[in-house]
Amino acid sequence: MAKIPIISYGHQSIDDNDIKEVVKVLKSDLLTQGPKVEEFEKAVARYCGAKYGVAVSSGTAALHLAYIVAGIKSGDEIITTPLTFAATANMLAVLGAKPVFIDIKSDTLNINPDLIEEKITKKTKAIVTVDFAGHPCDYDEILKIAKKHNLLVIEDACHALGAKYKGKKVGSFADMTILSFHPVKHITTGEGGMILTDNKDFYKKLKTLRHHGIVKKPEKGGWYYEIENPGYNYRITDFQCALGLSQLKKINRFIKRRREIVVIYNRAFKNIKEIITPTEKDYVKSSWHIYPIQLRWIDKRKTFDALQKQGIGVQVHYMPLHLHPFYQKKFRYKNGDFPVAEKYYGKEITLPLFPSLAEKDIKKVIKEIKKIIN
Ligand SMILES: *Cc1c(COP(=O)(O)O)cnc(C)c1O
Repeated sequence: MAKIPIISYGHQSIDDNDIKEVVKVLKSDLLTQGPKVEEFEKAVARYCGAKYGVAVSSGTAALHLAYIVAGIKSGDEIITTPLTFAATANMLAVLGAKPVFIDIKSDTLNINPDLIEEKITKKTKAIVTVDFAGHPCDYDEILKIAKKHNLLVIEDACHALGAKYKGKKVGSFADMTILSFHPVKHITTGEGGMILTDNKDFYKKLKTLRHHGIVKKPEKGGWYYEIENPGYNYRITDFQCALGLSQLKKINRFIKRRREIVVIYNRAFKNIKEIITPTEKDYVKSSWHIYPIQLRWIDKRKTFDALQKQGIGVQVHYMPLHLHPFYQKKFRYKNGDFPVAEKYYGKEITLPLFPSLAEKDIKKVIKEIKKIIN
């Protein structure tokens, strides 16, 4: 029997123009450290309403550098959500800082601002938000708390490029905003990420740290540079940035298509009591990185396996981070600490969602889910 092709939960949408732009750079002199990097940074920053962008080799690298320039170090406590990809907290842990998890809201699945203040101590340095599934957090409340306690807000917006909160674009309100250009995200560079900020000091430090910590001093000679702080090689290539620039031209169309598919799914599942569809508040415009549904009264694992067997590449986003062995051992988190996130995890599966998802595949996903539930 022929193997059923898998419709994955996320996938890049690449066209001939993207390929042409990459090939142009491949035929040019500079594969890296050329003009496309800054062009891409400026274009993304402009699109998001931020002053500066620093493009790096991944979203994880972007988080790492943002945390370093925020001054996060060993012993600091950082408020964040347990419902995120590991990198959000991993990059805190590698700096020796403690992620102080706060439970989520059951509707938006984002950090619950009402629970933040009671966890702030003298060691708290920043709040790291995650706009889960593309739905921005409650920034009026979060920014107010941050201001009152003199904390930085770093927004992990890897799910939320192009999303809006009360009419304002993601990237225009946190101290630093983090993007990823992994193939499943809104636009791709293969691997890649960016830090957005309005803070010139952060911007300069980020650029230096991306490139070994090298500070050029041309007044001392054309060759001359100094290391003031050791940095990394977190550079992104010019052909990746050419791909990113070409992809960015299509961002509005991509988001529009994601939103259309969400409407199709929402309508199809409206009268199925076993499925809870994801929420979008009326004051936000989600850019819908993923489509997470929650199952009622039916077994998650059986449903997951049955869908996979039918070629529907469902996923789970995510097992809350405090349930991972490392976070339990190192920071003494335990099962039961964040009941809303855990309850959600017990019921969640992610359905395929990406702009190039074929109409017939959308129909197939809906049909198979209905079949399995009945
Ligand atoms: C994808 C993602 C990252 C990491 O991005 P990479 O580019 O894969 O390193 C970080 N945080 C969240 C929430 C993500 O979804």
